[in-house]
Amino acid sequence: MNERLLQFIWQFRYFNTSDLQLYSGESFRIIHPGQLNKHQGPDFLEARIQVGSTLWVGSVELHLKTSGWKKHAHSDDSNYDNVILHVVWENDEPDPDPDMGLFILEDRVSKLLLKQYESWMDSPSFIPCESQLSKVKSIVWENWKERLLVERLLRKSAQVRLFLEESNHHWEESFWWMLARNMGIKVNADAFESIARTIPLKLLGKHKKQIHQLEALLFGQAGLLNRIFVEDYPMMLYKEYQFLQNKYKLRAAGIAVHYLRMRPVNFPTIRLAQLAMLIHESSHLFSRIKDAQSYKDIKEMFSITANDYWHYHYVFDETSSFNPKKIGDQMINNILINTVIPFLFTYGDIHKENSFKQRAMKWLEEIGPDVNSVTNGFQEIGIPVTHARDTQALMELKTKYCDQRRCLDCAVGNALLGYTSGVRPHPNPSPKERGS
Ligand code: SF4
Repeated sequence: MNERLLQFIWQFRYFNTSDLQLYSGESFRIIHPGQLNKHQGPDFLEARIQVGSTLWVGSVELHLKTSGWKKHAHSDDSNYDNVILHVVWENDEPDPDPDMGLFILEDRVSKLLLKQYESWMDSPSFIPCESQLSKVKSIVWENWKERLLVERLLRKSAQVRLFLEESNHHWEESFWWMLARNMGIKVNADAFESIARTIPLKLLGKHKKQIHQLEALLFGQAGLLNRIFVEDYPMMLYKEYQFLQNKYKLRAAGIAVHYLRMRPVNFPTIRLAQLAMLIHESSHLFSRIKDAQSYKDIKEMFSITANDYWHYHYVFDETSSFNPKKIGDQMINNILINTVIPFLFTYGDIHKENSFKQRAMKWLEEIGPDVNSVTNGFQEIGIPVTHARDTQALMELKTKYCDQRRCLDCAVGNALLGYTSGVRPHPNPSPKERGS
């Protein structure tokens, strides 16, 4: 037993609730267990308990043992003045305070529920409850996936809001930073973001008609032109960059890009060349995304190919066989999931326009599922993974709940423990009541 499990059992009333009695012998009824309090003070606020014919309204404090009250000196803390009920797992005091309503849970909780919870906490499986997942009703599962997806989007949205604050609420500039970050994939994300931050969109806009000037700016700021070249093209970029750097007093990004352990199509040279072409061929990207009605429109927007020089190169001065460097479907989907959709969702959230949020969620249904160890793991235990909407929800579940053993905060865990509790479920508490 631990305090979090005790809170969970109290919150959802997963114990035998017939003939409830206080330690003093008085009968009582729980009208509402209260709202879980994640801040300072008692565990539950605004609980409603009927003792005899009197309604008690106030806070509920939980401890594993009765002595926890004294140990934590709650009597000297005014936050606890309004406590109406002390709920404990077991009583370890011979003579508990008679003025305090005391309720002992130990004999009222199903042993099966406790065993189930313990086995999950110790389980080495991909997800601890995997052998019981089929018992969960589909409505519970679907609603939970929806909630997980929103949680994931809200987390990504927090990063968008941070960028917006830093750019003085300039949507296009913030979008450019995030897009560059995304194109850097994991290894070069920080470097690409810092390159984007050193070249304002306004400056790029002045040179957008000349692809070699855009490349000079991006490669130069990445520190990739600081060497002696053999071929004419990089030599020309170097001269162009020297001129532009001097003209605009540019300071290089300062984070080195890396090539280690990556496929050549992901080399920073290729991704920067594609970014340059994206700016060359389009403008006001985020405005266009806001106006786009279909996932196909967005896909077309990002289906661009780097400059001709890169048809025969992955790095400067080393020729390779002909291979145009088009942004592939996998990278486009990655940009959609990690940049386009979080921006659209945040825009809808900030401007209170649900249609943008709905569009963002709908596009996730049109993108194929990611293939990674998490999605493979879910497929192996029989969970269908149909599209990116599924993969985003399942990745949130695995990384933010299962891996952290947050089964008590999970709707699946709640449902499964509810089945083993042996008590009839009470109406589902609202998200506010769940403390989420
Ligand atoms: S967090 Fe939920 S889905 Fe994951 S193991 Fe626990 S109960 Fe199962």
